[in-house]
Amino acid sequence: MIRRALLAASHSGGARRIVETAPFTRDVARRFIAGETAADAARVTGRLTGEGLLVTLDVLGEDVHDKGRAETNTVKYIELLDRLGEEGLGARAEASVKLTAVGQALDEDLALDNARRICDAAASAGTTVTLDMEEHETVDSTLRTVHELRRDHPTVGAVVQAYLRRAEEYCADLAYEGSRVRLCKGAYAAPEAIAFTEKDDVDKSFVRCMKVLMAGKGYPMLATHDPRLIDIAEALTLLHSRDADTFEYQMLYGVRPQEQRRLAASGAQVRVYVAYGHDWYEYFMRRLAEKPANLRLVVRSLVGA
Ligand code: FAD
Repeated sequence: MIRRALLAASHSGGARRIVETAPFTRDVARRFIAGETAADAARVTGRLTGEGLLVTLDVLGEDVHDKGRAETNTVKYIELLDRLGEEGLGARAEASVKLTAVGQALDEDLALDNARRICDAAASAGTTVTLDMEEHETVDSTLRTVHELRRDHPTVGAVVQAYLRRAEEYCADLAYEGSRVRLCKGAYAAPEAIAFTEKDDVDKSFVRCMKVLMAGKGYPMLATHDPRLIDIAEALTLLHSRDADTFEYQMLYGVRPQEQRRLAASGAQVRVYVAYGHDWYEYFMRRLAEKPANLRLVVRSLVGA
């Protein structure tokens, strides 16, 4: 119930004003966000890659409904990727793009054109892009866009949300040679008819999807902090004799950092999802929804304890 309320609040202008203007919530949000500028993102990327981790960078700002903001977000990504190229970070850092940040809600073709410009910039920087998966209404459009982009940029990553009832089918379709697929539980609210809503069912679906991806020919990117699922992933690695460079774990910046380092030290590839920018509200509310205990940090910051 708390999860649903927080996800509903992530779309509420009133709640946004309260959270954004409260004196210390920005400091709490900083636990999950690298900073507000591309320079902050590059600094954090340099630090994490120096510690043996990989990075994927998200320029915050989603669900835009005007062309101007879609263009601004596209340019921010291109500038970020140019910077990664100049600083020699392209081999260890890619970009994660939300299509709603670059115009999907206005026009699928506009989002495709903007995403293509970002993919071109990524290729020049020696790296690639993964298209994040958002609300369930956008899944078909996002998968169509992934397939279009892969014509010129075959390494573009797709995301499957295990909470979707069709998740296993998406994984089977995407588990082909060279196909990079991130598997995550799913961070949005979706109706019962479309998505599993019980944690146990989502976890079981994650395991079924992981089995399909790890047995397949693609490159699985297992995005979870859940220790039970990580144990199962390790068992599947042995079962399918997968070398460490044929898949990766992914975790969010600020969540279980010791586990990120433990896995990397064991020889696994671990990519950290690093978000940055001014527009942190929706991203932050999803992080609260994932672990309502995080709310305590917010309440403490509000009462100044
Ligand atoms: P959970 O059962 O939620 O968490 C397991 C344990 O991890 C918790 O008990 C807790 O110890 C820790 N934990 C998890 N989340 C938090 C948190 N916010 N704060 C503190 N501790 C936490 N979702 C999408 O819908 N689309 C995407 O494109 C997408 N991309 C992602 C990319 C990456 C790299 C990652 C890691 C997640 C992504 N997600 C995405 C979010 C994902 O769907 C889940 O909401 C999120 O990862 C929490 O699920 P979990 O697998 O960690 O399991």
